Amino acid sequence: MADRYLNFIDGEWCEAASGKTFENRNPANWDEVIGVFPLSGREDVDRAVKSAREAFREWRLVPAPQRGRIMRKVADIMIERKEEIARLMTREMGKVLLETRGDFQEGIDTAVYATGYSRMLFAENPPSELPDKMGIVTRVPIGVVGVITPWNFPMAIPTWKIFPALVSGNTVVFKPASDTPATATKLVEILLEAGVPPKAINLVHGTGSTVGVPMVEHPGIDVITFTGSVPVGRSIAEACGRTLKRVSLELGGKNAQIVLNDANLDLALEGVLWGAFGTTGQRCTATSRLILQEGIHDRFVDMLVEATKKLKLGDGLLPSTDVGPLINEKAREKVHRYVQIGKDEGARLITGGEFATDGELSRGWFYKPTIFVDVKPGMRIEQEEIFGPVLSVIKVKDLDEAIAVLNDTEYGLSSSIYTQDVNAAFRAMRDIEAGITYVNGPTIGAEAHFPFGGVKNTGNGHREGGWTAYDIFTEWKVVYVDYSGKLQRAQIDNAE
Ligand code: NAP
Ligand code: MG
Repeated sequence: MADRYLNFIDGEWCEAASGKTFENRNPANWDEVIGVFPLSGREDVDRAVKSAREAFREWRLVPAPQRGRIMRKVADIMIERKEEIARLMTREMGKVLLETRGDFQEGIDTAVYATGYSRMLFAENPPSELPDKMGIVTRVPIGVVGVITPWNFPMAIPTWKIFPALVSGNTVVFKPASDTPATATKLVEILLEAGVPPKAINLVHGTGSTVGVPMVEHPGIDVITFTGSVPVGRSIAEACGRTLKRVSLELGGKNAQIVLNDANLDLALEGVLWGAFGTTGQRCTATSRLILQEGIHDRFVDMLVEATKKLKLGDGLLPSTDVGPLINEKAREKVHRYVQIGKDEGARLITGGEFATDGELSRGWFYKPTIFVDVKPGMRIEQEEIFGPVLSVIKVKDLDEAIAVLNDTEYGLSSSIYTQDVNAAFRAMRDIEAGITYVNGPTIGAEAHFPFGGVKNTGNGHREGGWTAYDIFTEWKVVYVDYSGKLQRAQIDNAE
């Protein structure tokens, strides 16, 4: 029997108002139903927003360090439940247990950071330019935050948004991806157990159109924080423009790893395998392009193909598995369509390029790790986000060409360069257009306390992670106190 899951609205676990439901299945074994979830709609969103607005009146007045104390309990409970929920996450979205544990650990790290940062939500106070006057700079919460998240980091991404939003004194309406609603439900259970006021956190299950759109349009939501694809991000930004909501967008990537002739090739190989095929290529920071300098191109491609063929596909719960399935059938079809596009464009397929259906694999959405060589800048497989285990290899003459190729996309999330030459590394650090650059490391592996996000179409200028996430969820407020007992006019009484 599949587990029944519920919404959490207005302090209670409940069904959708319509009574409708949807199923969530295991992408490694489509016969396995993980759970049945409420398929919510506008009415449920209305109730959730009302609850969050009501809770905001009191929550904003709780001292931030006390809100942070709840985050410490969140971290404690998360540590206890790590293994159980990581296993559920693997069943729900397919990536291997090692990675779901990492995803979960990022949530723990974010809770620990939030605990500490709750005691630091202050700003610098500059002196007033007038005598007997003081300017006090504070940060205040904004109100109700709408959180809309994707399925590829079912725990880490919601925590990046919800923890700073709550610690800053906002209340939350949370719509997780309908592909990973079970992990999201566990997170809400943990927040409640740790002591977040029940009406301050509302969980509304459903799809982008049934729940996401009503949230974005809702006048009672003050901030939307969204992670997902560029087309959806664009439509959300347009809708938020109409109601002048603050909106933070973390969108796609077409990340590249450069390997120069002088690089440590064994290290670069480990990096690209992890970057391209970890999470089955379904990370916003996945390595989907490999830019090789001509002197090592052929040798490195040989090493890469040999290692790629050894990767073992399977259920992410099995310790022998390196690469899990894609998230669903539609995703696998999309990947396969791009493989066809790559062939039609004249790129050369040297491994993979097909469904993996041997034995047990036939029950899930498996796709063989795929590599194209002779990929030319501008080809669609070189420009568009495929979000699967497909790597495009591009040959270049030198560092300048490598950086030009790397930069020539609409995205700018992550990037990487392998070289032993300190001058080349520093030029790359300066000239690469991306929010994140790794030197001698793969394009994936961000740490929770560093700013995270990208340039160009990857986002709209916000950063999650660390202290920068708090800028999304707070407003600056300045209070001037004049204790001189007379009217003092800035810029006038003290004019030069
Ligand atoms: P998606 O299709 O854009 O969906 C993301 C979320 O938005 C889901 O919860 C989805 O709901 C919801 N949604 C869909 N349409 C909506 C609409 N019109 N209005 C409001 N909400 C809507 O993205 P995805 O396929 O889940 O995730 C993959 C994408 O996320 C990739 O492009 C990847 O690069 C990006 N990503 C970016 C980052 C980053 O930090 N930059 C991190 C991870 C992923 P349902 O799916 O339930 O319908
Ligand atoms: Mg699923």
